[in-house]
Amino acid sequence: MSEEHTGLTIALAQLKLASQRLGLNAGIHKMLSQPKRSLSVSVDIRLDNGAIAVFNGMRIQHWDVLGPFKGGIRYYPELTSDEVTALAMLMTWKCAIADIPFGGAKGGVCVDSKKLSKHELERLTRRYIASIVEILGPHRDIPAPDMYTDAQTMAWIMDTYSQLKGYRIPECVTGKPVEVGGSEGRTAATGRGVIHCVKEAAELLNINLKNGSVAIQGFGNVGYHAAEAATEIGCKVVAVSDSTGGIYNPSGLTPAAVLTHKEQSGSVQGFPGSKDITNAEVLETKCDVLIPAALENQITCKNVDKLHTRLVVEAANGPTTPEADKALCEKGICLVPDILANCGGVTVSYFEWVQNLTREHWTLEEVNRKLETKMTKAFEDVFKLSQKEESDMRTAALMLGVGRVANAIKMLGLWP
Ligand code: NAD
Repeated sequence: MSEEHTGLTIALAQLKLASQRLGLNAGIHKMLSQPKRSLSVSVDIRLDNGAIAVFNGMRIQHWDVLGPFKGGIRYYPELTSDEVTALAMLMTWKCAIADIPFGGAKGGVCVDSKKLSKHELERLTRRYIASIVEILGPHRDIPAPDMYTDAQTMAWIMDTYSQLKGYRIPECVTGKPVEVGGSEGRTAATGRGVIHCVKEAAELLNINLKNGSVAIQGFGNVGYHAAEAATEIGCKVVAVSDSTGGIYNPSGLTPAAVLTHKEQSGSVQGFPGSKDITNAEVLETKCDVLIPAALENQITCKNVDKLHTRLVVEAANGPTTPEADKALCEKGICLVPDILANCGGVTVSYFEWVQNLTREHWTLEEVNRKLETKMTKAFEDVFKLSQKEESDMRTAALMLGVGRVANAIKMLGLWP
C-alpha cells in the first residue's frame, strides 16, 4: 500500500470527504478548496558582513468568514506554497471546531534560521512584515509563532507593525512575551489542551487515568507540557522521546526532571532510572494513551499493527497517515484528531487577542479555566456529531469545522 502524500493532497481529500458527507454545494466546495488570497514577496536583507541576501516570503489566507485570519509564521528552507496552503486550510477548520471567531492563514519565509545571526533574523522578520503589512492587522490577519519562530519573533512583529502604523498595537500578533502583552499560559496551552482531550476520551472508553500509562513521542513544547499536565491528573508517563531516541520507565517518569536532564545533556536518553529505547519502541510501548507530539507521518502501515494502546491523541499536526488512520479504526483504537486535540494553542492565542483589545491581563488560573471550558465543549461537539453520523472522530471534526464555515458562507451570501 503506497503512503505517498503531500500535506495539500491530504487536506484536499479531507475537505472532499467532509463536503460529500455534509452534502455541500459544489460551488462552496470549490470556494473552500483554494485560499482567498496568496501573497508572495521578496525579503531582501543586509547580512552582518554587508552582503545582500534575498529570501522568498509568503502569506496565505484561506477563509475568514468567521473572523480575521489567524495562523503561524514558519521559517523553513523547504517551505512551499502548497504546504502553507494546506496548513492555512487546517487552521480554518481548527478555529471553527474550537468555536473561536477566526479564519485560517499561514505564512513564512524560505530560510534556514540557524544560519542567520540574531540581528539578521530581526532584520528578516521586520522586512518580511513590512512587505505584507497591507494584508495584516488586528481585524484582518493576526500572525502567531510556528516552526523556528518564537515569542521574540512575535515581539519584533508587534514592534514593526506598530512603528508602521504610528502607535502601539499589541493585538496585531499573538504568542508575544508576557512583558509586551502576551498571555499567561500560552506556552503550555497546546499540551494542556491535549490532556483535556485525553480526559474526555478516557471517560468514554472507561480508561482509569489514575495511574493510567501514557507514552509521548516528542519532548518539545507540546510533548513536555502534555507530560506535565498528564502527571498532574495522576497518569504515569512511562515513555518519552526526542530526535535522539526514547526512554522507558514503567513506574513513571518525572517530566521536570527529564527536562532538566535533556537541557544538561542534549537528550532525554541516559535519564537515571530509565531504560533507553528507540523512537520506534516509544510508539510501540504498551500504554493506555499514546500521544504523538513530534512530526507528521509517524503512525503508518508499517507500525500500526505494533501499537499497544487503546487511545491515540494527536498532539502533532498530521502524525497519522490516511492508511494507518483506517487501520486504527478497524482495530478499534480510538483516535482524537489533530484539528481537535491541538487547538488549545490557537484558543489561548484568541484569549491573548481579547486581552490586548480590552487592555486586560488575565491570571493563569483564569486562562486555564477558560481553556478547559473551550476544549471540553469542542470535544463534546465533535463526539456528539460522530455519534449522530456514525463516523470516526476525524471525519466528525472535519464535518464540524467545514460545516460551520460553509454555513457562514451561505448566510453571508456572495457580493455583488
Ligand atoms: P518543538 O520543536 O518544541 O518539539 C518537537 C519535539 O519533537 C522535540 O523534542 C524534538 O526533539 C522531537 N523530535 C523531532 N524528531 C523526532 C523524532 N523522529 N522522534 C521523536 N521525537 C522527535 O515543537 P512543538 O511546538 O512541540 O510541536 C510539536 C508538534 O505539535 C508539531 O507537529 C507542531 O506542528 C504541533 N503543534 C504545535 C503547537 C504549539 O503550540 N507549539 C500547536 C499546534 C500543533
